[in-house]
Amino acid sequence: MRNAQEKDLLLTNLRLPDGGPPGRRILIREGRIAEILPAAAPDPAAPTMDLCGELVLPGLVDGHMHLDKTLFGLPWIPHAAEPFRMSRIENDQNMLPSLPLNTASRAGELLRRCVANGTAHVRSHVDITPAFGLSALEGVLEAKQAHAHAVTMQIVAFPQAGVVRAGGQKMLDLLDAAIRAGADLVGGIDPCEVDRDPKGQLDGIFDIAGRHGVGVDIHLHEPGEMGLFSLQEICLRAKALGMQERVTVSHGFCLGGVKESKQAAAAAMMAEAGVALATHGAGGSTLPPLMLLRRAGVRVFCGNDDIRDTWSPYGNADMLERAAVIGWREDIRHDDLLAELFAMASSGGAEVLGVADHGIAPGNPAHFFTIAAENVADAIGRHPLRGKVFHAGRLVASRGEWVA
Ligand SMILES: [Zn+2]
Repeated sequence: MRNAQEKDLLLTNLRLPDGGPPGRRILIREGRIAEILPAAAPDPAAPTMDLCGELVLPGLVDGHMHLDKTLFGLPWIPHAAEPFRMSRIENDQNMLPSLPLNTASRAGELLRRCVANGTAHVRSHVDITPAFGLSALEGVLEAKQAHAHAVTMQIVAFPQAGVVRAGGQKMLDLLDAAIRAGADLVGGIDPCEVDRDPKGQLDGIFDIAGRHGVGVDIHLHEPGEMGLFSLQEICLRAKALGMQERVTVSHGFCLGGVKESKQAAAAAMMAEAGVALATHGAGGSTLPPLMLLRRAGVRVFCGNDDIRDTWSPYGNADMLERAAVIGWREDIRHDDLLAELFAMASSGGAEVLGVADHGIAPGNPAHFFTIAAENVADAIGRHPLRGKVFHAGRLVASRGEWVA
């Protein structure tokens, strides 16, 4: 017979984002939400935990990050690259292998901060380059395994130094090896600007994706017309290869740098090809028209991208703060739009990552967090410290600190 006392947990004194009546409780059983009990229902026999009247929100999704590049776990290291993408790429190759803390340790430091901020699912790009081989991937896989009870992870095999310019077929073989070693998607980067060979890069990475039945997520920083050309080439391949819903373009700065008629046409093209957009708010670049894209049917989701790493001194792994940055840049002020923004940082990301049963509902995995906020809009606007974070019904962080 199942021992209810051991496996059940009753969460009391909480508020749900639907603004419904007080006094409801959540019963967790075997890692899932077994029931949301109405106020009038008697308490089932289970240990209880008081959530201090805080708001319960579904787990956040960091849909674009770089666990292998973070400098968390180390004393402050000043930014060392010149203000050009190629200088930052070279800086990675010089700095990362000589750091006194290995990839698994640094990635673990960052993952625990993600969890403490209420993140339940991440998609991390991991550098696969001729200089690194699969070493960064091996470190991130180690961190993934060590934190599997607290956060789920997708890994993108990311050719940070390019594909064609970084060895062509040899580089493609390395990406193929990364998928065989445990990466979940194939990455790409600026096929025109970095590789100067869009066909060479895109045919190569889509071929790997097709062979292994995995998705594609491409960093596209290219501006204006050049970026639009690459985006068209990506959408063409997604459609022709039947990969709708499995291709993501990260950043898509070009979408923010062309006139509105071209934005609308590109949005329709992406929606038809089922190509999603990941955004972190486009620091220093043109921000894609996120709401226009969503209205056209494009799945838009958010990620922190670089978090105190070799590319950026900014960030604390908080997806609510990230949502606030994006909302501030997009001039989002009304509650209904803030609720949409919250979805981009939670359920929208879960959908693209293929996370099933996301949200606070009976039967779903118990991935959620509490926060001393009035509602979702207030939670983004102020993004105060998270109260308690649960993953599969287990308490994994409390008051902003990882629970060992
Ligand atoms: Zn990135």
